[in-house]
This record gives sequence, C-alpha cells and structure tokens, in this order.
Amino acid sequence: MLKIMTPGPTQVTKNVRDARALETTNPDLDLDFLDFYSETCDILADILHTKHNTMILCGEGILALEAACASLTEKGDRVLVIENGVYGEGFKDFVSMYGGEPVLFSTDRERPVDPKELRAFLEKDRAFKYATLVGCDTPSGVRNPAGELCKILKEFGIISVVDVVSEMFVSELFVDKDNMDIVCGASQKALSAPSGLSLMAVSDDALKVIRNRKTPVAAFYANILTYCDYRKNKSFAYTMSASCINGLHRALLNVKEDKDIYKRHERIGTAVRKAVTAGGLKLFLKDGFSNGVTVFKLPQGVDCDQLLATIRKDFDIMLAGSFGFLDKKVIRIGHMGTNCNEKDVEDTLQALGESLKKLGFTPKCDMRAEFKKVLK
Ligand SMILES: *Cc1c(COP(=O)(O)O)cnc(C)c1O
Repeated sequence: MLKIMTPGPTQVTKNVRDARALETTNPDLDLDFLDFYSETCDILADILHTKHNTMILCGEGILALEAACASLTEKGDRVLVIENGVYGEGFKDFVSMYGGEPVLFSTDRERPVDPKELRAFLEKDRAFKYATLVGCDTPSGVRNPAGELCKILKEFGIISVVDVVSEMFVSELFVDKDNMDIVCGASQKALSAPSGLSLMAVSDDALKVIRNRKTPVAAFYANILTYCDYRKNKSFAYTMSASCINGLHRALLNVKEDKDIYKRHERIGTAVRKAVTAGGLKLFLKDGFSNGVTVFKLPQGVDCDQLLATIRKDFDIMLAGSFGFLDKKVIRIGHMGTNCNEKDVEDTLQALGESLKKLGFTPKCDMRAEFKKVLK
C-alpha cells in the first residue's frame, strides 16, 4: 500500500476514515449536530490551551488564512507581513487583495525570525493594524518562535494572524498564554484527517477589531463574523460538511488521547535530521528545524523528479519536492501526525538510501540503521 510520507496531506488512520463513513443528518436543522460541532470545537480549544472562540470552516487550510485577512483588512490598512518563506510572503497577496498595504519584514530564509530584530523594527514603526506570521513555513521547514513573536506584537498593540497549519499538533501551542489572536490550522497536516477543513481560534481582541470596521467585510464565505456566533444563534450561516466534521472529531480525539505526541515528534524529527546528515545529505536550514518535516538539498547530479519517481515506483512511498524558491532544489520527508512513527520512517530512509544509490549518489552510511541507533 502506498505510504504518503509527505508534509501534508498525511496518512489517514482507519478510525478517521470509518468516522467519515457514518450516516449523516441535516446539519442545518438538527440541533444534535450543532452540539456535536460545538463539542468538536471544544476539543480543539482544549488541545490549543485556549478559551478563545474556536470554529471549523469548510474549506482547505488556505480558507483560514484568507478569512483572517478578509475579515481584518480595510482599504488603506497597513499590515506587517513577517516572512522568511513561501507562506509567510504569500500573506502579502491576501492583504493587498482586500485593499490593505502590506509592509514586508523579510528575514534570512535559512533561519527562524529573530524576536529581537522584530522588537527593534517595531520600536521604530508600530503603526500596523495587524501582522501576519507563520509557525512552520513548510516548503523550507523553518520553524519560527510564533509564541514569542505574538507576545511582542501584543506589547505593541498589534493583532496577530498566525499560520500554524503545519505546526499545530507537531509542537504544543499555548494560544492564550502566547497572545495569538487569529490562529489558522487545517485538517490534513499533523491532525492526519483528509484535506477539506480549516481550524480557527479567534481572540476577543481580534473580534473587536473586526466588529469595529468602518466598512463591511468584503467576503461572504471568508467572513469570520458569519461563523463565530453559531452557539448563540443555534445555527450556521452555511451548510456544514457533516462527514468531514465526523472525521475531524475522531482525529482530534486521537490527538487528545495521544499523551506522547509532542515528545514523539521531537524524538523522531531529531533522529531523521541526524540520520540524513550522517548519510552525507545537507539540510536546507541552518537553524530552526521543524519536527514535522525534514528538508534536505538534492545531492549534485540527482534530479528531483527522478528521485521522487524512483522511490514511488520501487518502494511505493511518496515523498515531496518543494515549491516557490525551492522548486526542484530540495526533498521533503513529512514525519508529522500519523507519519510520525518509527516503522514508516525507517522504511522511508531505507527507500531513500537505495533510490539515491540507484541514481548515482551513495550515502555515507545506512541511514535507516543510523536512525535506529539515534532513537535508542
Ligand atoms: C499546507 C499549508 C497551508 C495550506 O495550504 P495548502 O494549499 O494545503 O498547501 C497553509 N500554510 C502552511 C504553512 C501550510 O503548510
């Protein structure tokens, strides 16, 4: 069976697939569904350590990012776009699409954003309605200190929009303590449900800013205000995707019941990095490694598409290349969520080693054996 060892979508467990096959009700009319949806949001809130408004939007993760920007931005608003990667930079398009003026705070793409540098920048210029940042910028795997950055933004009175789509459930998030105002997640990364849902936690500070807009939000489906009062209104603005939410509920319980989840990601993430480096491969980053994805440079003379095709054909394992400025330059192993288990990672490293050898690059060691040694 095909093993999807990519940094999202990840492998979906049987109990999530089974939950998605359950009989469904009319989600608009059945108050039992409303209770089920609310309970699902409560489990999410519990995992994220937040009392903020949590909601599930029916649309792939990008919808959360767009909803945050659509709901906050008014014509002429200055927005700080903190970026050191593809997703970080991408926020500028959402900001300008809704009439805002993005101001880029760009830093070294091989390292995490430095909180001290952000503070120094804000001391000179703090006139921003909100700021955007990314927890793990998945194409490079760089992991930013999102909590620290949000706390600094709050000190300067700036609302934060945080894309933690590929960081949520990989490392523990403390949304309230870290002052994260609008948190964006998705179903298909470390949560290991299929793609299709966005997860959001929205603070009262953020809701106040949205409610105090001078002009109405220029979106229907991407308007946070249409989602956030479902408990009070006892209804949804749109028909919810019942099967997707059935699956999500189960996937969230899987995370909640997994007492070892964050430690396991750290252990396996660290061991994968050690194994591929020992094999003579070069990591893309200098610092700030995500524990959900490992990104290494293609060795001289090895073609990206050929390597991916060989691993797929000979071993039935799917790895990922990347995109944006890293297109065809790196390979990504996704060891987040369900993928984060020793057996699958061992098989992946074995397949990677043999495929590299077939294409002319002989690793300096048996990366699978090295991985096992490090884990012991
Ligand atoms: C996956 C991901 C998203 C959602 O976008 P996709 O269309 O699934 O790629 C948003 N932000 C980050 C950082 C992601 O990794």
